[in-house]
Amino acid sequence: MSDRMPVAEVVLAGLVCCGAIGCSGNGTAAGTDIPDLAAREARCPDGGGCSAGDGRGLADPGPTLPDGIGVQEVVVDVLPSDAGGEWVFDRQAYPAVQGWILLDADPDAVAQTLQAAAGFGVNHVQLSHDLIMNVEDVLGDDQATQARIETLNLAISLAHQQGMDAYVWTHELSGVDAEVCYAPDDALWEQRAQAYRAMFERLPGLDGVVLMFGSAPIPPWFTLCGCEWCTETYPDGTPLDSPPPAERIRIVTEKIGGVVVNELGRQLYVRTFVHEPAEIPWHGEGLAAVDGVEFTGMHKGSVQDWQPYNPHDPNTGHVGPHPSVLELDLAGEYYGLSVLPFCAPGYYWYRMDHLWKNQGIGVVSRVQRGSAHALSTPNEVNLLAVRRLVEDHDEPLAAIWDEFLGDFYGVTPDLPQQPVLKRILADTFPIRLKSHYTLGIWSMEKGSGFPDGTTLDEFTSRGKMPKWDPDWQGVWDRLDKPDRATVLALWQEGTEAVDMAAADRDALGSVSNALSEEHRKDLERRLLHQWLAARAWRAMDLSIFSLRAKAAGNDFPERSAWLLWARAELETVRSEMEQGGLGSVAVASPDEITQFLSNCPKDASDGVEPAAPDELLFSPLVIEQPVPVEAVVTFTVNREVAVFLDYGLEIPDFGQTMEIPSAPAGELRTVTLKGLEPDRRYVLRLRAEEAGAEYLGGDFWVFTR
Ligand SMILES: [Zn+2]
Repeated sequence: MSDRMPVAEVVLAGLVCCGAIGCSGNGTAAGTDIPDLAAREARCPDGGGCSAGDGRGLADPGPTLPDGIGVQEVVVDVLPSDAGGEWVFDRQAYPAVQGWILLDADPDAVAQTLQAAAGFGVNHVQLSHDLIMNVEDVLGDDQATQARIETLNLAISLAHQQGMDAYVWTHELSGVDAEVCYAPDDALWEQRAQAYRAMFERLPGLDGVVLMFGSAPIPPWFTLCGCEWCTETYPDGTPLDSPPPAERIRIVTEKIGGVVVNELGRQLYVRTFVHEPAEIPWHGEGLAAVDGVEFTGMHKGSVQDWQPYNPHDPNTGHVGPHPSVLELDLAGEYYGLSVLPFCAPGYYWYRMDHLWKNQGIGVVSRVQRGSAHALSTPNEVNLLAVRRLVEDHDEPLAAIWDEFLGDFYGVTPDLPQQPVLKRILADTFPIRLKSHYTLGIWSMEKGSGFPDGTTLDEFTSRGKMPKWDPDWQGVWDRLDKPDRATVLALWQEGTEAVDMAAADRDALGSVSNALSEEHRKDLERRLLHQWLAARAWRAMDLSIFSLRAKAAGNDFPERSAWLLWARAELETVRSEMEQGGLGSVAVASPDEITQFLSNCPKDASDGVEPAAPDELLFSPLVIEQPVPVEAVVTFTVNREVAVFLDYGLEIPDFGQTMEIPSAPAGELRTVTLKGLEPDRRYVLRLRAEEAGAEYLGGDFWVFTR
């Protein structure tokens, strides 16, 4: 832990601003050279939940992280400023938080969701997004604002009737322009205090606030002040970083917390959502230095925007002497929107396990996005998993599956169909990973749908994995300038999803006699959609990355044949979707395929026949865990070749390798991994060489518990 910040340094940072240095308190001093404000306008002009990864180039990028400071290494320990000893976390001292986050402003939807929440043991509700994002959303006197206030008060009242506390999201700074003075007695702080007082007058039952900075109308790090107080108190910087960003977060939290907690007696959560790595220590150091305000940290399970491959948010449990809750997306905003199932109790356990080791006291979950809702879909298993794991972190995953399959489908553990149904649903997790991410990287759309063309929309923003974990640089570079082998690795990954989806669709036949008519039809439709969508994503990957290989100067002879095959495959899939009753699905639809095809250059030579890649191919791994610390892995290979099984606790650097001797093509091979560590996520992948070329299997995740 060589990067651990010394305790004394943090406490000192917390005291700098309490001194008696004179302050003009007048915002910017006359004659101060202020950079162009227009270039620093807020990134989210609608005040909504934009989480674009964004205008960072416009402004001060903040402190440069030393090499090797990825997200895992930022650890900040502090002493409570008024306590003699070290703060010791005691989970029993806090009520466990079973929270849901509501995003939809429709009053009927609010009422329905709260009714359902009661059935899941929810005791904490956060109102956000279309309901409220900033204090100013409830301060107007127009009709729309009055309607918003009514809906919020309805939600608060219904929550209280069900025994739940109700919170609203607020972003700071809001309701101000970019010139913000951080002097303690600047008039701005009284203005912000009055805004919060006014909000609580209009929402009198409100139990507290979830305060956050990223995606604010003006995040503190985009404000500036050139006054005498700011420049003299923080003499090392410019108007853009005097005070520095961490200090700004401390000041804003103390000011808002002073009103919400200390004056009004309500609760405060502080959410550490970030767009860029530099914002991680700003939050960690700033919040750790907060003095005199009680709050709870709130952190997304993976840093930034729900990417399953991203590291944990390193601020989790590291915001000073305060407990933490985790924010999880159980509805699949970016992985299926609960239309394409994402049933992942193991994945959510993995995120929660990190929280439990880091001052965790509960979880707040997103259960909806727009009209898409996890309730009454297979994704409900995620809701049950989080509930049970908050109640008892040692609850076995198998017990969660048994309970869900029994309660939701009426398929109890004594029935022979139960393990088959479990396998079908559990496979949705790897299938979604292989469809939405390319070799683990978020390269295509923001959202759960098909790409609308061959441009990689997220590759250089959210998909820039190396900024969160430098180990991903090589993978990112491969996708940036792909060659034939990279295209084949994507083909392998996509084919795994297609093959699993096909096998699970077939397997449904053997369990359908244990299902109600309604559930059977629902699963038939979802599994058909999953299989066709997996085929479409594979064909799109083949197109996008073949063209990208050509553009990178890595063209290869089969490109034309593969592109033609992909186009024909997409046309077939589109037609099968329409014939299969999937013409109007909310995501991954035939219309999206049409859109992709219209934006995808044909770029094929004349006289070439369409052909799919015909290369070395691994079957999907089938993994059994007879006991938590072992994994039995079976697979086939379509060539006679020696194979390596890479495995370990991290990806993309797996750490360990096992060589598996060659066997005849298509022969089932079985490998037993023994001595795994309990309560871990392992990642496994096959690898082989043939004729001097390396072939990679896709990654598969195993949770040893
Ligand atoms: Zn100032």
